[in-house]
Amino acid sequence: MPTKPKKPESFSKSVDHMADRAFAALDLDPGVASAIKACHAIIKVNFPVKIKGKIEIFTGWRATHSTHRLPSKGGLRFAPIVNQDEIEALAALMTYKCAIVDVPFGGSKGGLLIDPTKYDRDDMECITRRYARELIRHGFLSPAVNVPAPDMGTGEREMAWIADTYKQLHPDDINHAACVTGKPVHHGGIAGRTEATGRGVVYALREFFRHGDDVKATGLSDGLGGKRIVLQGFGNVGYHTARLLQEEDDARIIAIIKSEGALINTDGLPVERVQEYILANKTMKGFPGADFTANGAAVLEMACDILIPAALEAQITAENAARINTRLIVEAANGPVTFDADEILRERGITILPDAYVNAGGVTVSYFEWIRNLTHMRFGRMERRYDEMRGQHLIAAMEHLSGKQVPDWMRGEIVKGAAELDLVRSGLDDTMREAWQAISTARHDNPKVTDFRTAAYVVAISKIARSYVDLGVY
Ligand code: NAD
Repeated sequence: MPTKPKKPESFSKSVDHMADRAFAALDLDPGVASAIKACHAIIKVNFPVKIKGKIEIFTGWRATHSTHRLPSKGGLRFAPIVNQDEIEALAALMTYKCAIVDVPFGGSKGGLLIDPTKYDRDDMECITRRYARELIRHGFLSPAVNVPAPDMGTGEREMAWIADTYKQLHPDDINHAACVTGKPVHHGGIAGRTEATGRGVVYALREFFRHGDDVKATGLSDGLGGKRIVLQGFGNVGYHTARLLQEEDDARIIAIIKSEGALINTDGLPVERVQEYILANKTMKGFPGADFTANGAAVLEMACDILIPAALEAQITAENAARINTRLIVEAANGPVTFDADEILRERGITILPDAYVNAGGVTVSYFEWIRNLTHMRFGRMERRYDEMRGQHLIAAMEHLSGKQVPDWMRGEIVKGAAELDLVRSGLDDTMREAWQAISTARHDNPKVTDFRTAAYVVAISKIARSYVDLGVY
């Protein structure tokens, strides 16, 4: 058994300790375990950019944690606090995440030390393009070897600049669009990528609630309807998660926490109106019909049924874990619960749906986008009208045989051919369900596994280890 640390020294150590629990449950050769945990390569770049006539130096990293599958895949984070350890930890999480949801990628992650709010659009374009050039030059960005995607502080806009930079440097690469995912749809992106991580979180929760015994073990009643949810982080992941849970599952978002503080309404916050208010006013303060507090950390400890951290790592630590007042934690962010906190929460019987599974919707739909770019065709283009025609024939046959008319609403459903967005959502839902079933089996079949995080790591590590053992370590 690995020794239990008193205090995780860092984010990457925390991820390693969590993986160690799975290595112990699998009785894996320690050599293979070390090979899986080691970060394969990392690059640090310092590069100058002229901003308003003055030269500034920017620092960025890109880590390739694993290459047993290629390309290695993972987001690019632009944030004022980023460091090498964090990027290595996030890259390791990507390795496990890709294995859990069965996308054929290794794990990678990148980060640029920058406060994007301090620069205008043109400056951001120069900085992003220059950073991309550095990654390309050093072999850390290409359709076959390493493919970034959005993460904190980046989105479609940055991905479009990166794709265009790669294309300028490699005009003869017919697959240039596949060098990055999360692009705008009109620049080779895929419908549904922007909301994919949030939608994946919701699909994960729905699948969990289909497993009655696991729900019962949390002490929660069946169904998501009416559940009181506290959400931390209202960016890409948090907003879409909250919106879908409210609109489609009738859940009650009772608090939204951002860097500036939190909005609270125990009857439920209108998610779309909160978003519109923030976009218009650049703050959540003053939103009508809700209480505002600047103490977001205290709201994380508010009583709720489900707590969804969707902001940063290390938000639930040994310091506040004993005061967390929920039955279920759904890790939409990467690494929101430290190793020490995880131990405390487990002892308190609080169920955790782990990050490496919960937020894997983003990389899943990135995989669909990458495939779309390599095939140079949108999904559904070949079969959509054919499926519609078959639907028409089916209805004609039903009406002929029964002598009755098919009602219009049913006709519409039967005749409809799947658009790309329908296929993306179907593929994402299927992926999240299948992955959960594997995690649930690992959790219940192996007596050494007593929590879902270890189960998720067991699923991932079994697949990765097979690849290392089959191919050998050279
Ligand atoms: P984002 O930049 O769009 O939003 C981040 C949000 O967190 C903002 O609302 C911000 O106000 C809030 N926040 C920042 N610091 C905070 C603090 N100290 N307290 C409370 N709130 C704080 O980022 P995102 O893309 O939504 O990513 C959020 C998390 O999800 C990260 O951990 C990221 O790694 C993870 N993730 C993102 C994706 C993706 O597709 N974007 C995919 C997988 C995982």
